[in-house]
Amino acid sequence: MKLNYDVVIIGSGPSGIAAATALKQQGVHDIVILEREAQAGGVPRHCQHPTFGLLTFKRPMKGSHFVEHILKIRGDVPVLTGMTVVGIYPDGKIQVSCDAGLVNIQAKRIIIATGVRETPRHPRLVSGLRPQGVLTTGALQQFIYLNRQTPCRNPVIIGTEIVSFSALWTLRNAGVKAKAMIEQGARITANRPLIMAAKLFGVPVYCQTKLVEIGGLNRVEYVMVERNGQREKIECDSVIFTGEFTGEYTLIKGSHLDYRADTGCPVVDNQGRCSDAAYYAIGNLLHPADMGDQCYQEGMKVGLAVAKDLQCPAPKASLRLPIVFDEKIQFTAPSCIAADENLSTLDLNIRVKQAITGTVVVKSGNQVLYQKKHRCLPGRRIMLKGVNSRLISGNATEINVSIV
Ligand SMILES: Cc1cc2nc3c(=O)[nH]c(=O)nc-3n(C[C@H](O)[C@H](O)[C@H](O)COP(=O)(O)OP(=O)(O)OC[C@H]3O[C@@H](n4cnc5c(N)ncnc54)[C@H](O)[C@@H]3O)c2cc1C
Repeated sequence: MKLNYDVVIIGSGPSGIAAATALKQQGVHDIVILEREAQAGGVPRHCQHPTFGLLTFKRPMKGSHFVEHILKIRGDVPVLTGMTVVGIYPDGKIQVSCDAGLVNIQAKRIIIATGVRETPRHPRLVSGLRPQGVLTTGALQQFIYLNRQTPCRNPVIIGTEIVSFSALWTLRNAGVKAKAMIEQGARITANRPLIMAAKLFGVPVYCQTKLVEIGGLNRVEYVMVERNGQREKIECDSVIFTGEFTGEYTLIKGSHLDYRADTGCPVVDNQGRCSDAAYYAIGNLLHPADMGDQCYQEGMKVGLAVAKDLQCPAPKASLRLPIVFDEKIQFTAPSCIAADENLSTLDLNIRVKQAITGTVVVKSGNQVLYQKKHRCLPGRRIMLKGVNSRLISGNATEINVSIV
């Protein structure tokens, strides 16, 4: 097995494949993608809704077709499957678990593209027993689309994000009608018109309703919910936890890289570079969870930056200004700005904790870099386009983002 590369990419989802494609187009050929699953492609492999491809191929595509296309475009860059990266160390050294045991691989640059997952039952602290029949949308899609199995007959869906409606649709494709959708908030998290889909399928959506218990000995038999101060039992055979996305941060948390203490998300600058200049991070790992196309576009951009960096490495002691934000904001991506490079404008991807309409202001000291009114909803990508980083002053120590 080859143990030395110019670039190693961890994860073969849309962002990792895109980075490989951009690197190859820039003449970097000594690349490998390491993937822990048996198949390349990441999440879209098991997404059968035509919600991919519009940005990249200007037409709607199912996730599996999107993956086929992008894998074809990446050409002969090898994707080694069954390779789980278990450790990342200074200066581009990583440890990989595979059939051969534990192997150490080194590269001039490593791109981390480990993606995103939904929050399963345990971190949501739902009481009750531990029967079979508790899934996430991802697991449901794998059962139905990859394994052609129907894991439930009358499930309850927890959550109302876009992916929750994907779960509804996936069930429908398997001939299964959900018993109900449960939302703790006052309105659905996804765009309001999506509630029509639930109505059309005859599935009630209960807002301001909390799941408090899962019942059943061997198999789920019911859920207990709390609504208007009253407890109500809904009989069902499964519970599908949807959304509440979180990045795959396990590798980062065990590493030497700087990361946000509250989440584990790596600190990256506007080029996608981590605190160790040998490492870059891309895709939904940084902003759980954007669309597949958006991750692909970002992977292309960072792949280009890495190719440039290999030809002409950036100064090691690059000044990185942290992006500090107010309590309404959940995160920004990137989380810092490399200030001593030729800055022009940049795009800042932000997320809010609660619904708010206001003016998003990005400042460096008293200098306004961006100011625009946005209607911000939680769980939604809010892209601040054209933040004028030319205006960052030489003695700036941080960038501030607030919603007023
Ligand atoms: C259930 C679900 C449904 C979704 N539906 C849609 C949809 O309909 N439309 C849409 O546009 N977007 C959808 N998304 C968003 C989706 O995440 C993005 O479309 C896209 O897949 C993100 O790309 P990525 O490359 O960042 O990560 P991913 O696609 O998540 O790929 C990450 C890859 O890294 C691998 N990996 C992780 N850790 C390691 C490791 N330690 N070693 C080696 N490999 C590793 C994983 O196995 C995976 O293959 C959905 C997401 C989820 C979770």
